[in-house]
Amino acid sequence: MRPLQMVDTKSQYLKIKDRVDAAVIAVMESSQFIGGQVVNNFANNLAKYNGSKHVITCANGTDALQIAMMALGLKAGDEVITPSFTYIATVEVAALLGIKPVFVEVDKQTFCIDPIAIEKAITPKTKAIVPVHLYGHAADMEAIMAIAEKYNLFVIEDNAQGIGNNYSFSNGTMKKTGSIGHIGCTSFYPSKNLGAFGDGGAIFTEDDELANKLRMIASHGQSKRYYHDVVGCNSRLDAIQAAILDIKLEHLDEYIDARIKAADFYDKAFAGISKIETPFRAANNMHVFHQYTLILHNADRDALSAALAAKGIPSMIYYPVPAHRQKMFDAFGGSDFHLPVTDWLTERVISLPIHTELDEEQQTFIADAVKEFLK
Ligand SMILES: *Cc1c(COP(=O)(O)O)cnc(C)c1O
Repeated sequence: MRPLQMVDTKSQYLKIKDRVDAAVIAVMESSQFIGGQVVNNFANNLAKYNGSKHVITCANGTDALQIAMMALGLKAGDEVITPSFTYIATVEVAALLGIKPVFVEVDKQTFCIDPIAIEKAITPKTKAIVPVHLYGHAADMEAIMAIAEKYNLFVIEDNAQGIGNNYSFSNGTMKKTGSIGHIGCTSFYPSKNLGAFGDGGAIFTEDDELANKLRMIASHGQSKRYYHDVVGCNSRLDAIQAAILDIKLEHLDEYIDARIKAADFYDKAFAGISKIETPFRAANNMHVFHQYTLILHNADRDALSAALAAKGIPSMIYYPVPAHRQKMFDAFGGSDFHLPVTDWLTERVISLPIHTELDEEQQTFIADAVKEFLK
């Protein structure tokens, strides 16, 4: 059996090695390392894939979120409503800009922000909602967009884990996550569903004016070369990453199918085991399984993790400490938030290896080991 990993980017690379190697060499030979046709082509192809009018590429997913907040004019003293049950980047960038993250609960099944909790947390200072499509399951965007419209708020989707997910509205319209809010943000960190061979990120919007602002802010606030109209930053996707991503984008749907198939396998293997709650999938989204995350009931998670590790099976806790309990947010009153669902999930979740290269032998071995321990 091939060794087990949380993600197997090496095997994935080997399947497209010839094209990727040629594309990287072509960039080196062109010496157009920053900007240029290769980056533009990828941005256009990604826009087409996502059904988005504009794609602005940038250096990473964290920058994408920060640039989004800057472009919407959010500033110190404003509030954004976000889940606490997320990767730190979502909320860190708000804090960096002096914006107060107002942490709210997630849904116990989908792990995504709870729309009822959002509405309760709105104050006169609220400017935006930042839903996260955690683990690849779409947040309840229809309800979130309705709240945003009612209270005149912006929506920034953190689509770092959700890229490729098809979300259906009750009227039958289907949209890709990341193209539903005013701005969508994603990451091409190597382990993400569309991963580069280094860092990368992108920002999506339908709005022409916002697209200009986003582009300007990502490029030192310049309207044209050496004319800097607003305070910006320096955030670029380089051409080598764009060349690789453009090839991998052609395979993204196939990669997602492989992840869903792996999730189906686990679901079946764990069916009927009372200590395991397998991932919920709302009918209005496809769940792209960036992570395959179980909720354990009445089981010793650390002991399970150790038992798996002893057999060479990695597992991870995403995330062991919710954002509101991070020291980073002491100064923002993080510990004042009372989020029992978030705390409850934080203590019970465990993620198993899921990626595009898992085979049945590996999955059987993993599932048997989990079942053996929980017996
Ligand atoms: C990965 C990730 C980010 C940050 O992306 P980077 O490219 O690592 O900066 C933000 N939000 C979520 C939910 C993520 O998973």
